[in-house]
Amino acid sequence: MVDTLTKQQKLVLKQMTNFTCESCHQVFKENELEIHRKIRGVDGGTYIPSNIQILCKSCHKMRDFI
Ligand SMILES: [Zn+2]
Repeated sequence: MVDTLTKQQKLVLKQMTNFTCESCHQVFKENELEIHRKIRGVDGGTYIPSNIQILCKSCHKMRDFI
């Protein structure tokens, strides 16, 4: 199973949110945003639209601790 996104695919996803973090709703630079999987990769989560969220680095870090 392909479980990675190309740089181009990540860029498109970030552009869809206008480079806005879906958690804190602030605008970030492209390299400050990450693609978060609601169901983690180790639990079988893939990069399908219903499983992903665009988060800034600090929100992403917090998600991983929950
Ligand atoms: Zn954020």
